Amino acid sequence: MYDVVISGAGPAGSRCAETLARAGFKVALLEKDSNWRKPCGGAVSSSIFKYYPQLKKLDLLPITGIKMYSGDYHSIEYSWKGIKHYSINVDRLEFDNFIRNLAIDAGAELFDKTLSNDFIRKEGKFVGIIARTESGIKEFHGRLLIIADGMSSKLAVKSGLREKWKPEELGLAKCALMEGKNNLPKDSIQVFFRSYKGYGWIFPLSEERFNIGCGTFAEDNFKYNLHVIFEEFIKSPHIKKYFPAKNYKTLWSGSYPLPGMGVKEKSLFSDNIMIIGDAAGFVSPISGEGIHPSIVSGQISAETAIMALENDEINKQMLKKYKTHVKIKKIIANFKIKRSMVDFFYQNGGKNLSKMFQIAEVDDDFREKVINMFLFNQAPSKEFLLKIQE
Ligand SMILES: Cc1cc2nc3c(=O)[nH]c(=O)nc-3n(C[C@H](O)[C@H](O)[C@H](O)COP(=O)(O)OP(=O)(O)OC[C@H]3O[C@@H](n4cnc5c(N)ncnc54)[C@H](O)[C@@H]3O)c2cc1C
Repeated sequence: MYDVVISGAGPAGSRCAETLARAGFKVALLEKDSNWRKPCGGAVSSSIFKYYPQLKKLDLLPITGIKMYSGDYHSIEYSWKGIKHYSINVDRLEFDNFIRNLAIDAGAELFDKTLSNDFIRKEGKFVGIIARTESGIKEFHGRLLIIADGMSSKLAVKSGLREKWKPEELGLAKCALMEGKNNLPKDSIQVFFRSYKGYGWIFPLSEERFNIGCGTFAEDNFKYNLHVIFEEFIKSPHIKKYFPAKNYKTLWSGSYPLPGMGVKEKSLFSDNIMIIGDAAGFVSPISGEGIHPSIVSGQISAETAIMALENDEINKQMLKKYKTHVKIKKIIANFKIKRSMVDFFYQNGGKNLSKMFQIAEVDDDFREKVINMFLFNQAPSKEFLLKIQE
Protein backbone atom coordinates (compact mmCIF):
# COMPACT_ATOMS: atom_id res chain seq x y z
CA MET A 1 0.00 0.00 0.00
CA TYR A 2 1.41 3.36 -1.08
CA ASP A 3 0.35 6.86 -0.13
CA VAL A 4 0.51 7.85 -3.80
CA VAL A 5 0.77 5.81 -7.01
CA ILE A 6 1.93 7.84 -10.01
CA SER A 7 1.56 6.51 -13.54
CA GLY A 8 4.31 7.91 -15.79
CA ALA A 9 7.79 9.14 -14.88
CA GLY A 10 8.20 11.97 -17.39
CA PRO A 11 8.78 15.56 -16.21
CA ALA A 12 5.32 15.87 -14.60
CA GLY A 13 5.38 12.51 -12.79
CA SER A 14 9.00 12.75 -11.67
CA ARG A 15 8.56 16.24 -10.23
CA CYS A 16 5.40 15.17 -8.42
CA ALA A 17 7.09 12.02 -7.06
CA GLU A 18 10.16 13.91 -5.86
CA THR A 19 8.13 16.52 -3.98
CA LEU A 20 5.94 13.88 -2.30
CA ALA A 21 8.87 11.66 -1.40
CA ARG A 22 10.77 14.60 0.12
CA ALA A 23 7.73 15.29 2.31
CA GLY A 24 8.02 11.71 3.61
CA PHE A 25 5.25 10.00 1.66
CA LYS A 26 5.52 6.48 0.24
CA VAL A 27 5.41 6.87 -3.52
CA ALA A 28 5.26 4.28 -6.32
CA LEU A 29 6.35 5.74 -9.67
CA LEU A 30 5.33 3.48 -12.56
CA GLU A 31 7.22 3.92 -15.84
CA LYS A 32 6.66 2.09 -19.11
CA ASP A 33 10.30 2.38 -20.19
CA SER A 34 13.01 4.64 -18.84
CA ASN A 35 15.08 4.03 -22.00
CA TRP A 36 12.43 5.76 -24.13
CA ARG A 37 13.47 9.11 -25.56
CA LYS A 38 10.34 11.23 -25.75
CA PRO A 39 10.18 12.88 -29.19
CA CYS A 40 10.61 16.53 -28.25
CA GLY A 41 12.48 19.70 -29.19
CA GLY A 42 13.81 19.82 -25.63
CA ALA A 43 13.86 23.63 -25.36
CA VAL A 44 13.29 24.64 -21.74
CA SER A 45 12.85 28.16 -20.43
CA SER A 46 15.06 29.61 -17.70
CA SER A 47 12.29 29.14 -15.10
CA ILE A 48 13.31 25.45 -14.99
CA PHE A 49 16.22 26.37 -12.68
CA LYS A 50 13.75 27.33 -9.97
CA TYR A 51 12.68 23.69 -9.87
CA TYR A 52 15.98 22.11 -10.84
CA PRO A 53 18.99 24.24 -9.84
CA GLN A 54 21.05 21.03 -10.23
CA LEU A 55 20.76 21.45 -14.02
CA LYS A 56 23.17 24.39 -13.82
CA LYS A 57 25.95 21.92 -13.04
CA LEU A 58 25.46 20.11 -16.37
CA ASP A 59 27.47 21.27 -19.33
CA LEU A 60 24.51 22.61 -21.34
CA LEU A 61 24.76 25.44 -23.88
CA PRO A 62 23.41 28.67 -22.39
CA ILE A 63 20.66 29.89 -24.75
CA THR A 64 20.14 33.64 -24.59
CA GLY A 65 18.21 34.45 -27.75
CA ILE A 66 15.59 33.46 -30.27
CA LYS A 67 15.05 34.16 -33.97
CA MET A 68 11.51 33.65 -35.25
CA TYR A 69 10.52 33.56 -38.91
CA SER A 70 7.14 33.90 -40.58
CA GLY A 71 6.16 31.43 -43.30
CA ASP A 72 7.67 33.77 -45.91
CA TYR A 73 10.84 34.31 -43.85
CA HIS A 74 10.35 37.76 -42.36
CA SER A 75 12.10 37.59 -39.02
CA ILE A 76 12.33 38.91 -35.49
CA GLU A 77 15.32 38.41 -33.22
CA TYR A 78 15.41 38.84 -29.48
CA SER A 79 18.19 38.43 -26.95
CA TRP A 80 17.76 38.17 -23.18
CA LYS A 81 21.49 38.04 -22.50
CA GLY A 82 22.16 39.91 -19.26
CA ILE A 83 18.42 40.62 -18.72
CA LYS A 84 17.33 37.26 -17.41
CA HIS A 85 18.76 33.81 -16.83
CA TYR A 86 19.65 31.73 -19.85
CA SER A 87 17.42 28.90 -21.04
CA ILE A 88 18.64 25.46 -22.15
CA ASN A 89 18.09 22.78 -24.76
CA VAL A 90 18.08 19.23 -23.45
CA ASP A 91 18.27 15.72 -24.82
CA ARG A 92 15.09 14.22 -23.41
CA LEU A 93 16.57 10.80 -22.69
CA GLU A 94 19.25 12.37 -20.48
CA PHE A 95 16.96 15.02 -19.00
CA ASP A 96 14.13 12.64 -18.10
CA ASN A 97 16.53 10.22 -16.42
CA PHE A 98 18.26 13.07 -14.60
CA ILE A 99 15.05 14.34 -12.99
CA ARG A 100 13.69 10.78 -12.53
CA ASN A 101 16.83 9.95 -10.53
CA LEU A 102 16.24 12.99 -8.32
CA ALA A 103 12.82 11.53 -7.49
CA ILE A 104 14.42 8.16 -6.69
CA ASP A 105 17.11 9.84 -4.54
CA ALA A 106 14.33 11.60 -2.64
CA GLY A 107 12.82 8.19 -1.82
CA ALA A 108 10.25 7.48 -4.55
CA GLU A 109 10.18 3.82 -5.63
CA LEU A 110 10.55 3.56 -9.42
CA PHE A 111 8.97 0.56 -11.14
CA ASP A 112 10.52 0.53 -14.60
CA LYS A 113 9.17 -1.54 -17.52
CA THR A 114 5.78 -1.23 -15.84
CA LEU A 115 2.84 -0.34 -18.07
CA SER A 116 -0.25 0.98 -16.28
CA ASN A 117 -3.30 -0.58 -17.75
CA ASP A 118 -6.38 0.06 -15.66
CA PHE A 119 -7.72 1.19 -12.33
CA ILE A 120 -8.55 -0.89 -9.31
CA ARG A 121 -11.87 0.43 -8.05
CA LYS A 122 -13.61 -0.29 -4.76
CA GLU A 123 -17.11 0.91 -3.98
CA GLY A 124 -16.89 3.34 -6.92
CA LYS A 125 -13.57 4.80 -5.75
CA PHE A 126 -10.14 4.68 -7.40
CA VAL A 127 -7.93 2.68 -5.03
CA GLY A 128 -5.07 1.52 -7.24
CA ILE A 129 -3.56 0.88 -10.65
CA ILE A 130 -3.18 -2.44 -12.43
CA ALA A 131 0.02 -2.65 -14.47
CA ARG A 132 1.77 -5.08 -16.78
CA THR A 133 5.32 -5.79 -15.65
CA GLU A 134 8.06 -8.10 -16.96
CA SER A 135 7.04 -10.64 -14.32
CA GLY A 136 3.31 -10.41 -14.97
CA ILE A 137 0.34 -8.32 -13.89
CA LYS A 138 0.85 -6.36 -10.68
CA GLU A 139 -1.49 -4.27 -8.53
CA PHE A 140 -0.35 -0.99 -6.94
CA HIS A 141 -2.69 0.21 -4.23
CA GLY A 142 -2.59 3.86 -3.15
CA ARG A 143 -4.55 6.40 -1.12
CA LEU A 144 -4.19 8.79 -4.05
CA LEU A 145 -3.52 8.14 -7.74
CA ILE A 146 -1.80 10.61 -10.05
CA ILE A 147 -1.97 10.18 -13.81
CA ALA A 148 1.16 11.57 -15.51
CA ASP A 149 1.57 9.19 -18.41
CA GLY A 150 1.50 11.71 -21.21
CA MET A 151 -0.80 12.68 -24.04
CA SER A 152 -1.64 9.09 -25.00
CA SER A 153 -2.75 8.28 -21.43
CA LYS A 154 -5.31 5.49 -21.39
CA LEU A 155 -5.94 5.99 -17.69
CA ALA A 156 -6.94 9.65 -18.20
CA VAL A 157 -9.70 8.42 -20.51
CA LYS A 158 -10.61 5.41 -18.36
CA SER A 159 -10.97 7.71 -15.35
CA GLY A 160 -13.95 9.29 -17.11
CA LEU A 161 -12.47 12.76 -16.45
CA ARG A 162 -11.83 13.46 -20.11
CA GLU A 163 -12.54 11.95 -23.51
CA LYS A 164 -9.91 10.74 -25.96
CA TRP A 165 -8.36 13.71 -27.80
CA LYS A 166 -10.01 14.47 -31.12
CA PRO A 167 -7.40 14.52 -33.94
CA GLU A 168 -8.02 18.24 -34.53
CA GLU A 169 -7.22 18.96 -30.86
CA LEU A 170 -3.66 17.76 -31.38
CA GLY A 171 -0.36 18.85 -32.84
CA LEU A 172 1.78 16.29 -34.69
CA ALA A 173 5.51 16.71 -34.87
CA LYS A 174 8.60 14.92 -36.11
CA CYS A 175 12.10 15.67 -34.89
CA ALA A 176 15.64 14.36 -35.06
CA LEU A 177 18.88 14.65 -33.14
CA MET A 178 21.56 15.27 -35.74
CA GLU A 179 25.28 15.84 -35.73
CA GLY A 180 27.75 17.54 -38.04
CA LYS A 181 29.59 20.79 -38.72
CA ASN A 182 27.13 23.68 -38.91
CA ASN A 183 26.88 27.49 -38.88
CA LEU A 184 24.09 27.64 -36.34
CA PRO A 185 24.36 30.35 -33.69
CA LYS A 186 25.04 28.28 -30.58
CA ASP A 187 23.45 30.71 -28.13
CA SER A 188 20.01 31.01 -29.72
CA ILE A 189 17.10 28.95 -30.97
CA GLN A 190 15.43 29.31 -34.36
CA VAL A 191 11.69 28.94 -34.87
CA PHE A 192 10.12 28.89 -38.33
CA PHE A 193 6.37 29.47 -38.44
CA ARG A 194 4.82 28.01 -41.57
CA SER A 195 2.12 29.33 -43.86
CA TYR A 196 -0.06 26.43 -42.61
CA LYS A 197 -0.81 25.75 -38.95
CA GLY A 198 2.56 24.53 -37.87
CA TYR A 199 6.18 25.42 -37.28
CA GLY A 200 9.70 24.12 -37.55
CA TRP A 201 12.66 24.53 -35.23
CA ILE A 202 16.41 24.14 -34.89
CA PHE A 203 17.75 24.00 -31.34
CA PRO A 204 21.54 23.66 -30.82
CA LEU A 205 22.62 21.09 -28.22
CA SER A 206 26.41 21.34 -28.49
CA GLU A 207 29.01 22.55 -30.98
CA GLU A 208 27.99 19.95 -33.58
CA ARG A 209 24.77 18.44 -32.26
CA PHE A 210 21.28 19.91 -32.79
CA ASN A 211 17.60 19.05 -32.56
CA ILE A 212 15.63 19.79 -35.72
CA GLY A 213 11.94 19.24 -36.23
CA CYS A 214 8.62 20.45 -37.52
CA GLY A 215 4.94 19.78 -37.17
CA THR A 216 1.36 20.73 -37.84
CA PHE A 217 -1.65 21.28 -35.66
CA ALA A 218 -5.47 21.41 -35.72
CA GLU A 219 -7.12 20.80 -39.11
CA ASP A 220 -3.78 21.05 -40.92
CA ASN A 221 -2.86 17.68 -39.36
CA PHE A 222 -5.08 16.16 -42.04
CA LYS A 223 -3.73 18.19 -44.95
CA TYR A 224 0.01 17.62 -44.58
CA ASN A 225 2.10 14.48 -44.34
CA LEU A 226 4.52 14.84 -41.44
CA HIS A 227 7.40 12.99 -43.09
CA VAL A 228 7.02 14.95 -46.32
CA ILE A 229 6.99 18.36 -44.60
CA PHE A 230 9.96 17.31 -42.43
CA GLU A 231 12.03 16.46 -45.53
CA GLU A 232 10.93 19.68 -47.25
CA PHE A 233 11.81 21.66 -44.13
CA ILE A 234 15.33 20.33 -43.67
CA LYS A 235 16.07 20.65 -47.39
CA SER A 236 14.77 24.20 -47.84
CA PRO A 237 17.48 26.77 -48.72
CA HIS A 238 16.66 28.81 -45.60
CA ILE A 239 17.63 25.84 -43.46
CA LYS A 240 20.35 24.43 -45.67
CA LYS A 241 22.41 27.61 -45.28
CA TYR A 242 23.28 26.49 -41.75
CA PHE A 243 24.49 23.10 -42.94
CA PRO A 244 27.28 23.36 -45.50
CA ALA A 245 28.61 19.79 -45.06
CA LYS A 246 27.60 16.97 -47.39
CA ASN A 247 26.42 14.55 -44.75
CA TYR A 248 24.85 14.84 -41.35
CA LYS A 249 24.48 11.94 -38.99
CA THR A 250 20.96 11.29 -37.68
CA LEU A 251 21.55 10.03 -34.14
CA TRP A 252 17.86 9.48 -33.46
CA SER A 253 14.50 10.54 -34.85
CA GLY A 254 10.90 10.18 -33.78
CA SER A 255 7.44 11.61 -34.17
CA TYR A 256 4.70 12.05 -31.61
CA PRO A 257 1.46 13.97 -31.03
CA LEU A 258 0.98 16.72 -28.45
CA PRO A 259 -2.17 18.29 -27.01
CA GLY A 260 -2.80 21.53 -28.90
CA MET A 261 -5.75 23.18 -27.20
CA GLY A 262 -4.49 23.93 -23.72
CA VAL A 263 -5.48 22.49 -20.37
CA LYS A 264 -8.60 20.32 -20.13
CA GLU A 265 -9.83 22.10 -17.05
CA LYS A 266 -12.58 19.64 -16.18
CA SER A 267 -10.18 16.72 -16.28
CA LEU A 268 -7.80 17.79 -13.52
CA PHE A 269 -9.11 16.00 -10.41
CA SER A 270 -11.80 13.93 -8.75
CA ASP A 271 -11.96 11.92 -5.50
CA ASN A 272 -8.57 10.19 -4.97
CA ILE A 273 -7.19 11.17 -8.38
CA MET A 274 -5.40 13.99 -10.19
CA ILE A 275 -4.26 14.27 -13.82
CA ILE A 276 -1.11 16.25 -14.60
CA GLY A 277 1.22 17.18 -17.47
CA ASP A 278 0.44 16.32 -21.09
CA ALA A 279 -2.23 13.87 -19.93
CA ALA A 280 -4.27 16.94 -18.90
CA GLY A 281 -3.14 19.22 -21.78
CA PHE A 282 -0.39 21.28 -20.08
CA VAL A 283 1.15 22.28 -23.42
CA SER A 284 1.14 25.81 -24.76
CA PRO A 285 -0.89 26.23 -27.97
CA ILE A 286 1.26 27.71 -30.81
CA SER A 287 4.70 27.18 -29.18
CA GLY A 288 4.18 23.58 -28.03
CA GLU A 289 6.12 24.31 -24.83
CA GLY A 290 5.09 21.67 -22.32
CA ILE A 291 8.11 20.67 -20.22
CA HIS A 292 7.97 23.59 -17.80
CA PRO A 293 4.13 23.70 -17.51
CA SER A 294 4.13 19.93 -16.87
CA ILE A 295 6.71 20.32 -14.12
CA VAL A 296 4.62 23.10 -12.55
CA SER A 297 1.54 20.85 -12.64
CA GLY A 298 3.63 18.08 -11.04
CA GLN A 299 4.78 20.42 -8.28
CA ILE A 300 1.36 21.92 -7.52
CA SER A 301 -0.43 18.56 -7.64
CA ALA A 302 2.15 17.25 -5.13
CA GLU A 303 1.66 20.24 -2.81
CA THR A 304 -2.11 19.69 -2.99
CA ALA A 305 -1.64 15.96 -2.37
CA ILE A 306 0.47 16.67 0.73
CA MET A 307 -2.35 18.77 2.23
CA ALA A 308 -4.95 16.15 1.35
CA LEU A 309 -2.91 13.24 2.75
CA GLU A 310 -1.96 15.06 5.95
CA ASN A 311 -5.59 15.94 6.63
CA ASP A 312 -6.79 12.53 5.42
CA GLU A 313 -9.24 14.32 3.13
CA ILE A 314 -8.39 12.93 -0.28
CA ASN A 315 -11.57 14.13 -1.90
CA LYS A 316 -12.70 16.46 -4.69
CA GLN A 317 -13.11 19.45 -2.38
CA MET A 318 -9.50 19.22 -1.21
CA LEU A 319 -7.96 18.26 -4.57
CA LYS A 320 -9.68 21.23 -6.23
CA LYS A 321 -6.87 23.34 -4.71
CA TYR A 322 -4.65 21.97 -7.51
CA LYS A 323 -6.83 23.54 -10.20
CA THR A 324 -7.40 26.79 -8.33
CA HIS A 325 -3.74 27.32 -7.43
CA VAL A 326 -2.54 30.69 -8.72
CA LYS A 327 0.23 29.12 -10.85
CA ILE A 328 -2.16 26.67 -12.52
CA LYS A 329 -4.73 29.43 -13.11
CA LYS A 330 -1.99 31.53 -14.72
CA ILE A 331 -0.97 28.71 -17.06
CA ILE A 332 -4.59 28.08 -18.04
CA ALA A 333 -5.15 31.80 -18.72
CA ASN A 334 -1.93 32.10 -20.77
CA PHE A 335 -2.84 29.11 -22.87
CA LYS A 336 -6.30 30.58 -23.52
CA ILE A 337 -4.68 33.77 -24.89
CA LYS A 338 -2.41 31.72 -27.17
CA ARG A 339 -5.27 29.58 -28.36
CA SER A 340 -7.39 32.61 -29.21
CA MET A 341 -4.56 33.93 -31.41
CA VAL A 342 -4.04 30.79 -33.49
CA ASP A 343 -6.81 31.29 -36.05
CA PHE A 344 -6.04 34.98 -36.46
CA PHE A 345 -2.33 34.44 -37.13
CA TYR A 346 -2.78 31.64 -39.60
CA GLN A 347 -5.65 33.23 -41.55
CA ASN A 348 -5.18 33.22 -45.36
CA GLY A 349 -2.07 31.08 -45.42
CA GLY A 350 -0.31 32.79 -42.50
CA LYS A 351 -0.75 36.31 -43.95
CA ASN A 352 -1.43 37.97 -40.58
CA LEU A 353 1.62 36.35 -39.04
CA SER A 354 3.73 37.48 -41.95
CA LYS A 355 2.34 41.05 -41.77
CA MET A 356 3.06 41.11 -38.02
CA PHE A 357 6.70 40.17 -38.62
CA GLN A 358 7.00 42.69 -41.50
CA ILE A 359 5.76 45.56 -39.31
CA ALA A 360 8.04 44.44 -36.46
CA GLU A 361 11.06 44.55 -38.80
CA VAL A 362 10.68 48.36 -39.10
CA ASP A 363 8.74 49.43 -36.00
CA ASP A 364 10.55 48.93 -32.65
CA ASP A 365 7.48 49.55 -30.43
CA PHE A 366 5.46 47.03 -32.38
CA ARG A 367 8.35 44.57 -32.30
CA GLU A 368 8.45 44.81 -28.50
CA LYS A 369 4.73 44.00 -28.37
CA VAL A 370 5.27 40.93 -30.56
CA ILE A 371 8.09 39.77 -28.29
CA ASN A 372 5.97 40.37 -25.17
CA MET A 373 3.16 38.37 -26.67
CA PHE A 374 5.22 35.37 -27.78
CA LEU A 375 7.72 35.21 -24.94
CA PHE A 376 6.10 36.91 -21.95
CA ASN A 377 2.45 35.90 -22.34
CA GLN A 378 1.06 39.39 -22.84
CA ALA A 379 -2.34 39.52 -24.52
CA PRO A 380 -2.35 41.53 -27.77
CA SER A 381 -4.37 44.78 -27.66
CA LYS A 382 -7.14 45.66 -30.14
CA GLU A 383 -4.93 48.34 -31.74
CA PHE A 384 -2.18 45.79 -32.23
CA LEU A 385 -4.52 43.39 -34.04
CA LEU A 386 -6.05 46.22 -36.10
CA LYS A 387 -2.60 47.38 -37.22
CA ILE A 388 -1.94 43.91 -38.62
CA GLN A 389 -5.23 43.98 -40.53
CA GLU A 390 -4.75 47.50 -41.97
C1 LIG B 1 7.70 16.54 -31.17
C2 LIG B 1 7.50 17.32 -29.90
C3 LIG B 1 8.31 18.41 -29.63
C4 LIG B 1 8.18 19.10 -28.41
N1 LIG B 1 9.05 20.11 -28.13
C5 LIG B 1 9.00 20.73 -26.92
C6 LIG B 1 9.98 21.69 -26.56
O1 LIG B 1 10.91 21.99 -27.30
N2 LIG B 1 9.87 22.28 -25.35
C7 LIG B 1 8.87 21.97 -24.47
O2 LIG B 1 8.82 22.55 -23.37
N3 LIG B 1 7.95 21.03 -24.78
C8 LIG B 1 7.99 20.39 -25.97
N4 LIG B 1 7.09 19.40 -26.27
C9 LIG B 1 6.08 19.04 -25.26
C10 LIG B 1 6.73 18.16 -24.16
O3 LIG B 1 7.37 17.07 -24.76
C11 LIG B 1 5.67 17.65 -23.18
O4 LIG B 1 4.79 18.69 -22.84
C12 LIG B 1 6.27 17.08 -21.90
O5 LIG B 1 7.10 15.99 -22.20
C13 LIG B 1 5.16 16.61 -20.97
O6 LIG B 1 5.68 15.93 -19.85
P1 LIG B 1 4.78 14.80 -19.16
O7 LIG B 1 5.59 14.28 -18.04
O8 LIG B 1 3.43 15.28 -18.92
O9 LIG B 1 4.62 13.66 -20.28
P2 LIG B 1 5.71 12.80 -21.05
O10 LIG B 1 6.96 13.53 -21.19
O11 LIG B 1 5.04 12.26 -22.25
O12 LIG B 1 6.00 11.60 -20.02
C14 LIG B 1 5.07 10.57 -19.81
C15 LIG B 1 5.82 9.40 -19.21
O13 LIG B 1 4.88 8.36 -18.96
C16 LIG B 1 5.36 7.13 -19.47
N5 LIG B 1 4.18 6.33 -19.83
C17 LIG B 1 3.35 6.49 -20.89
N6 LIG B 1 2.35 5.59 -20.83
C18 LIG B 1 2.56 4.86 -19.70
C19 LIG B 1 1.84 3.80 -19.07
N7 LIG B 1 0.72 3.31 -19.59
N8 LIG B 1 2.34 3.30 -17.91
C20 LIG B 1 3.49 3.80 -17.35
N9 LIG B 1 4.19 4.80 -17.91
C21 LIG B 1 3.72 5.34 -19.06
C22 LIG B 1 6.22 7.52 -20.67
O14 LIG B 1 7.18 6.52 -20.95
C23 LIG B 1 6.87 8.81 -20.18
O15 LIG B 1 8.05 8.60 -19.47
C24 LIG B 1 7.18 18.71 -27.49
C25 LIG B 1 6.34 17.63 -27.78
C26 LIG B 1 6.50 16.93 -28.97
C27 LIG B 1 5.62 15.75 -29.23
